[in-house]
Amino acid sequence: MTEYHIGVDSTDSAELGMCTTYLGALIIEEMEKLPVELSTYPELVRLNPNVPWKTRGNGAVALRFSGRRGQERRMFDTCCEMIEKYSIMEDPQTNPGLVVISGNVPEEFTETYHEALHRLMGTDEIIPLLKEHECLFRGWKNGRGLIGAVSAVGARFDEFTYEAILYRNGEVKDRERLVDPGSVREASRKHPSTFFNVDDRGDLVCIPHSPCPVICGIRGLEPVDTRSALLEVSAGRAERWVLWRTNQHTDVHIVAIDSLKDASPYSSVSLDVVVDSEPSYHGGGHLSIPVRDGSGHTMTAWAYEPTKGFRKELSGLIRGDSIRIWGSVREGGGRFERGINLEKVEVQELEKKRDLVNPRCPLCGGPTESMGKGQGLRCKSCGNREGLEKLPMEVKRKLSPGMIEPPPTAWRHLFRPSSVTPVKELEVAPPFHGLLFEDHQ
Ligand code: ATP
Repeated sequence: MTEYHIGVDSTDSAELGMCTTYLGALIIEEMEKLPVELSTYPELVRLNPNVPWKTRGNGAVALRFSGRRGQERRMFDTCCEMIEKYSIMEDPQTNPGLVVISGNVPEEFTETYHEALHRLMGTDEIIPLLKEHECLFRGWKNGRGLIGAVSAVGARFDEFTYEAILYRNGEVKDRERLVDPGSVREASRKHPSTFFNVDDRGDLVCIPHSPCPVICGIRGLEPVDTRSALLEVSAGRAERWVLWRTNQHTDVHIVAIDSLKDASPYSSVSLDVVVDSEPSYHGGGHLSIPVRDGSGHTMTAWAYEPTKGFRKELSGLIRGDSIRIWGSVREGGGRFERGINLEKVEVQELEKKRDLVNPRCPLCGGPTESMGKGQGLRCKSCGNREGLEKLPMEVKRKLSPGMIEPPPTAWRHLFRPSSVTPVKELEVAPPFHGLLFEDHQ
């Protein structure tokens, strides 16, 4: 008996369909015709969300099998055939990569996984590793998918969540899904360890609108619950499902830094800063917040329009507020300076806010009012105009210390909301995948 690890990435296209996780599902079925079987959950591995050439969520898949020795060549050849058959090669962004390993995964592949979460990598860093470890591998077109494929097999999750995904046939490209929304709401209610299925208004947020084969994805913290919830969703054309273990919602892409000078482009960071001047709105409704770190380095943090209420709450920050920020570092260039695109903010300490307010009348104690721009103040009760000047007074802040997070529709896959505590202990609860049509069984 031996262990086999398959990593695949970059087979899909945002416009033309497919999804690497769907190909993963098909590969599992083909592999199980050989004398091997899945030894654990299939893994959906999200990598650096800031890579410019990602299709959607920069996801790659790792499939781990155990079985009779000497199967790796057959496994590799079958995967090659399937990648060629199913990948959307005509999309310039589709550059598939495949790696098949028998035995233990080299330690360097795990290091690659961590690097691929935090910076931009090149295939020139990956191919020598694959050769050194005599892996079976293949890259198609520019071969960039090898970066994701190696990172996926190297992935080891300290914390994780689950996502059970229901698939239709890859040939179906409709943007409409035939899902009964009531069944999703009911499944979500019955299985409270699942999350991100329905928003506050009851609208479904677990259904893509792209031409890809995914019908619905249920995220959860408990494998049996997550799988049951998915299988209770009524959907037309559903053919198969997979229960993925994933690094989604763990913040594993974030590196804690102490100084803004260490905020390198394409990385995602968290650090304590102080608001340097009032936030301001820009074209398109985006909010900029100038911030300063403890050693005086400054940068602008951005909250974009689609984050809606998040952006609005942050607009209440003032100079001197102490906050912790999480976000991805945007490279400067052209009209834009380097900046941090905010994922969440913790308000740590609020500065006292003072506004100039009308004083009480020193003669009668009555309220005062302005007589017009530059005209001074007058007592509303006795008409006195002498000795009246606006006074700085502390006003109540609308913000209070605590986390400020965007609504679920603006979450990135790796974003860890405060409402989700990822899992640390692995509970192996097969089945990990299944078929739903009798024709396919
Ligand atoms: P989907 O979420 O639908 O699977 P995707 O967003 O994962 O799509 P891909 O087509 O896989 O998009 O594109 C991401 C590409 O970036 C892949 O080729 C992957 O190997 C590569 N990649 C992943 N991480 C890095 C990194 N850190 N540096 C450079 N390239 C990377």
